[in-house]
Amino acid sequence: MISVPKGTKDVLPSQAYKWQFIENCARDTARRFNISEVRTPLFEHTELFARGVGDTTDIVNKEMYTFTDKGGRSVTLKPEGTSGVARMFIENGLSSSPLPMKSFYITPCYRYERPQAGRLREFHQFGVEIYGSAAPEADAEAIFAASDFLKKLGIAAQLRLNSIGCGTCRAEYNAALKDYFRPRLDEMCPVCRERFQKNPLRMLDCKEETCRAIAAGAPKITEHLCPDCAGHFSNVKGLLDAAGINYVVDANIVRGLDYYTRTVFEFVSSAIGAQGTVCAGGRYDGLIAQLGGPSTPAVGFAAGLERLLLLMENTGAEFPAAPVPDIYIAGMDGASRAKAFALAAGLREEGVAAECDLMGRSVKAQLKYADKTGARYVAVIGESELAEGAVNLKKMSDGSATKLAFGEICNFIKGEN
Ligand code: ATP
Ligand code: MG
Repeated sequence: MISVPKGTKDVLPSQAYKWQFIENCARDTARRFNISEVRTPLFEHTELFARGVGDTTDIVNKEMYTFTDKGGRSVTLKPEGTSGVARMFIENGLSSSPLPMKSFYITPCYRYERPQAGRLREFHQFGVEIYGSAAPEADAEAIFAASDFLKKLGIAAQLRLNSIGCGTCRAEYNAALKDYFRPRLDEMCPVCRERFQKNPLRMLDCKEETCRAIAAGAPKITEHLCPDCAGHFSNVKGLLDAAGINYVVDANIVRGLDYYTRTVFEFVSSAIGAQGTVCAGGRYDGLIAQLGGPSTPAVGFAAGLERLLLLMENTGAEFPAAPVPDIYIAGMDGASRAKAFALAAGLREEGVAAECDLMGRSVKAQLKYADKTGARYVAVIGESELAEGAVNLKKMSDGSATKLAFGEICNFIKGEN
């Protein structure tokens, strides 16, 4: 028996409607915010992620699915969505299209992680990217869109907000962090000791217990922001306040990717255990230039769909009912079966979900199956129905029957909808 690879999951036919609901909510949020869909390849040149995501991150250090293709090139399955969209923006000269460019994606992502609840090797993200605006309104709009999406799903998650400043304030802050961590470096993990050299900010994002405890007492970035960054942060907070969006400022949020500047945020839930971050984002004003494009401010977020689903299931959130056929049309013998198929074909053309027997079952067995599918109406075609051109349409919810000419079935069902 061949099993599914570790850290991946199937979506079974009985579960797909939940995924469709989440994806439809994402698309609906995007539509109302006038955000267009983009699709980028599942794999990219490895260098894109090394440069974009950053080589001091967990993703680039240990989580990428990288392989050499038959042409000897190093390619990587996308571990996140932003780098590909940024590459697309640069490669297609989209900086000369009307800005801001607001785009979204729903994509699988791949990270070689230790699988656990809410942490998979193949997972899915709904992400939003807003390119071209440095204004605090753009940060606020990204947060509004994330919040709108979560609200549509019926999810209550806490918004945690921080600013990690720009290059100017970061230099000063990194020095302060180094002064703080230097005497405690011996107690910290080897990765943090490396981060100390390369990117001390990342030490705040370590998941090791001892490192976390030490990091908790570190100086706060919000106390080291330059006047511009402080002003930007206070404007973003003002816009959230005005919109009635609740948040807490959490100085320890730095995010797992190197490209962030200024605003960073997470939506966190306590209902799914340790992996509580269901949505995360922020500003990345340096990314597009870093990838060789024209300097372009950017802000966005990505939400992990598996974690959202888990959260919805754990909190008993309402999903819309799974879809059922409008009608099952059973046939008795050769001629009436053919008629059942013809009727179904006509109804489908009119937009009605109709089903017939594909298993060569007896009428009794067909009706049993129809019941299992949850079909709203059932019709049985036999000799007398063929002769009369009419059928008793049975409504399954109350057992009532209505006699209808074949040509009346469609309007009847649609009228009932
Ligand atoms: P974490 O701190 O949980 O590892 P991250 O900083 O690596 O998260 P991002 O790269 O910001 O996460 O990804 C955005 C969102 O994608 C996360 O908040 C989460 O919902 C989801 N996500 C990230 N990694 C995984 C994974 N391995 N499995 C499932 N969902 C994931
Ligand atoms: Mg991670």
